[in-house]
Order: sequence, then structure tokens, then C-alpha cells
Amino acid sequence: MKNAINVKNYFLGNNALNELPGLLEKKMSENGIVIFAIDDFFQDKDIIASLPVRANDEVIFINTESEPHADYIDELVLYIKDTKNSGDIVAVVGMGGGTTMDIAKAIAVLLTNDGSAVDYQGWDLVKNPSVYSVGIPTLAGTGAEVSRTAVLTSRIRKLGINSDYSIFDQVILDPLLLKTVPKNQFIYTGMDNYVHCVESLSGRDNNAMTIAFADKSLALLREIFLGEMDYEKLMVASAFGGMAIANSNVGICHPLSYGLSLIKGFHHGYAICLAFNQLEEYYPEVVEFQDILKKMNFNLPSNVLEGTSDKEFEMMADATLLNNIPLSNAFGENWKELFPKEKVIELLRKI
Ligand code: NAD
Ligand code: ZN
Repeated sequence: MKNAINVKNYFLGNNALNELPGLLEKKMSENGIVIFAIDDFFQDKDIIASLPVRANDEVIFINTESEPHADYIDELVLYIKDTKNSGDIVAVVGMGGGTTMDIAKAIAVLLTNDGSAVDYQGWDLVKNPSVYSVGIPTLAGTGAEVSRTAVLTSRIRKLGINSDYSIFDQVILDPLLLKTVPKNQFIYTGMDNYVHCVESLSGRDNNAMTIAFADKSLALLREIFLGEMDYEKLMVASAFGGMAIANSNVGICHPLSYGLSLIKGFHHGYAICLAFNQLEEYYPEVVEFQDILKKMNFNLPSNVLEGTSDKEFEMMADATLLNNIPLSNAFGENWKELFPKEKVIELLRKI
């Protein structure tokens, strides 16, 4: 049975970001240092000047072109340890989408746990509490702001650090931060949220808590994507989707997307949309997903795997089939018989 955990504290509302200085002040010591990991979209934006950065703090702008890699986390942590006295680090702040938030969570873990990020990819491998961490999402959908997962790729797999120490201590949900998100990114990350709900609702590992969170998250997403955009509701939908997953697991779409991300370098939300679009035989909600895209006047790119070699399809399928927990959530213990490699390749070829 899962001993579920949720974020303890959160601010929600327009201008919630103004609460950050007060939060950090409470943690500050004489030589206290704060590490800021910030999506580089904000590098030249006015908002940076409003952040409570002191002379001794470190601001790392995160390039989100590729998803977080375990080696990159090791490099960042080595750099921080080389240039700062790690005992003086009082907080890690992650401000950005899922990529940046996951990087911030992983840094907070690695600052208090020896070894490399790959040593902690898996479930409950982290031994020591991480540095106090604050998550500030600027995109809505991944649920990374509330999950106990920091998803990382390494040379062979995409797998999270999943632990009670890789969840933010504090979250700041400021809907105003979403106003610069371009339409395609809204849809890709928003539909990641939609798929989290569908997969957790239809899986075997869910319980009444999952169902309550996922149902409400789906209802909000329907209001937003089939009705009117509302940034605050979108942030709540994302958080509820993340909490639904915390009490269950993802299903077929996420493993397929991991193969696409690992071999083709596709971003998570994009890979999720491409994969989910082909899964109607497993998830009837694919029809509604396609209606949402139509309503949003958005065409998913097609034939994106043109030119992919047989070897690459094999590699994508192998990466998909490494995910036995989500796949047994979706199919049951005999998932290997119900979802053989040939079927995975057939689905991938349709993308
Ligand atoms: P992202 O963080 O990769 O960002 C996507 C793009 O949006 C980037 O170009 C970024 O610069 C831009 N962006 C971010 N905020 C913006 C803003 N306010 N205005 C304009 N542009 C902005 O995207 P994502 O979909 O949020 O995150 C994907 C990552 O999250 C993947 O690595 C995935 O594995 C991970 N993930 C984690 C969890 C978890 O529980 N930890 C769950 C699902 C996905
Ligand atoms: Zn996801």
C-alpha cells in the first residue's frame, strides 16, 4: 500500500510570487545561500529583477531544449559544491515548467545525498532529507509542482527519482505566470494533465482518493479547454492531476511517450499527445481529446516518425517495455502477453 504524500504548503492566487521573499527570509541564516533554478525563458524578463536574489546566491538559468538528464544534474551539483559552501545552502527554488521544477528537486536531493543522480532513479532510494525547496510553476499540466518525482533521463532510461524527499516543501501557484505561455505549449502540457487523469482513473492501482482528484481535475480541464480559459483553474487542475498520480500510476501512454522522448528527443507533452492520439482502442477518451484539439483549432503534426529506422523502432519499444509498473497498472500482471513488443511497434509506426 502506498503511504501517499502531498505538498505541505502552497500559496495560490494572482501575485502569489510576492510571498517568496518572506518565505526565504524565514529560512535565512547568517551566510545563507539560495540556489535559484529558473527557466531561461525568463532570463531577459522584468520578473527576474523582482526575485529576492542576494549577492551570494546562485541563479542558474535552465535551458529546456532537452529534458533533464542525470549527467546534467551531476554537473550542476558539482559546480554548486565547488563554488559554494553547501552547508550554507538554505533553499533551492525552482521556477519554470516541469523540466525546471524537476531539476530543482533533483538538485535539492543531491545536495544532501552523496553519489550521482542515477543512483537515486527509482523508488525510495533517497536516504537523507533534501534542502528546503520551493516550486514555482510557470506552466500547468505536469503536476511536477506537487509530485514526489523528479523525472530524469539517463543513457538508457527515463525514470524519476521517486521519494518523500523529492517533493517540494513549498509551492507558489501564481496564475499570472502563465500569461506568456504559447498556445501549442498550453495544449501539450495541458493534455499531459488530461492523460494523467485518464490513465490513473482507468488503471488498477487507483483508489477513492485518486478518483476524487482525477475526476475533479478532468472536470476543470473540460471547463477550460472546451469552455473558457482560466489560469487559476488550470493550475489547480494540474496540481490535482499530480495528486491523482501520487495515489496511483500512469498507464500505457506514458511508457510509449518515454520511448519517443528517449530515442527521438521529443518533449514530454508533445510525445504524450502523439502517443495518446493512437490509443483509442485502450482509452475511449481519445475521442474527447481529439475534440479538444479541434475546439482549440490545433492540428497535431503527422508523420513525425518518417525516416525512423527499424532499429530505432525496436529501441523505442524496448524503452517503453521497461515500464512494468505503469503497464501492469494498465493491463494487470500478465501485461507482457497483452502488450507484446510487436503491438508497441505497430502503435509507434502509426504516429
Ligand atoms: P518544459 O518545462 O519542458 O517547458 C516547455 C517550454 O515552455 C520551454 O521552452 C520553456 O521555456 C517554456 N515555458 C515555460 N514556462 C513558460 C512561460 N510562463 N511562458 C512562456 N514559455 C514558458 O515543459 P513541461 O511540459 O512543463 O515539462 C516537461 C517535463 O516535465 C518533462 O521533462 C517531463 O518528463 C516532466 N514531467 C514531470 C512530472 C513529475 O511528476 N515530476 C510529471 C510529468 C512530466
Ligand atoms: Zn506526464
